[in-house]
Amino acid sequence: MTETSGRFRETGAIHVWHGRVGDQTLPSDLLVLGDDELRLAGRASDLRATHYAGVHAAVRRVLGSCYLGVSPADVRFGRHACPRCADPGHGRPRIEHPVTALDFSLSRSGPHWLLAVTAGEQVGVDIERCAPDQVAEVALTDDELDLMRRADLPERRQELFYRAWTRKEAVLKACGVGMVAELRDLETRPADAGPVTVGYGEPGLAGRWYVRDLALGPGLVGALAQDAGRVRPVVIRQAESLPGMWQL
Ligand SMILES: [Zn+2]
Repeated sequence: MTETSGRFRETGAIHVWHGRVGDQTLPSDLLVLGDDELRLAGRASDLRATHYAGVHAAVRRVLGSCYLGVSPADVRFGRHACPRCADPGHGRPRIEHPVTALDFSLSRSGPHWLLAVTAGEQVGVDIERCAPDQVAEVALTDDELDLMRRADLPERRQELFYRAWTRKEAVLKACGVGMVAELRDLETRPADAGPVTVGYGEPGLAGRWYVRDLALGPGLVGALAQDAGRVRPVVIRQAESLPGMWQL
């Protein structure tokens, strides 16, 4: 099952891959990573390094084997310039080799990962594992804060927070400005089960983003942001449901 970027573009869909890696580093994972990835994995503590290496190996396998038709080890990543300051050091990640119209967005939370793949679109994804009492009020707009303070149950409060948080991160990742942006200005209307349209612009980029929440299983929250001017269908794919892919 290899989807060339041409065929993929014709479908117009956004593919969202969801997977979970194990807690042991596999030698076969290390073999497909690039030098930068190995260096970053080497700097992290044990479990974090294992998850980082596992996720990046899985992403290379999905992109290389299912879309680009190259060996996972041969995929080379780079970055777009940041739309705000033109710095190529912290823009959105991109595929440098092979030359392709494919675009992607990756999010990790512990062993869980989410990868959106598109042809020529700009999208952002975020995945978070819910942790009790992890409400970061500094990131919320006044309306979001007010809503959360009025929530009577802690579970409801947590649900609202993670919905707001993942929506914000997905939009900022689609823009490529990272978390330096003004989170408090980004109103995500978490009382609305969605999809919602969120206003947020950067020079030369869509100012309105269509954001949907993704059902990923118990304890996980995810969101996907895409240009509200041309909303694409979304196909969710479970990485584990592709036996044989990992041998490629
Ligand atoms: Zn910048």
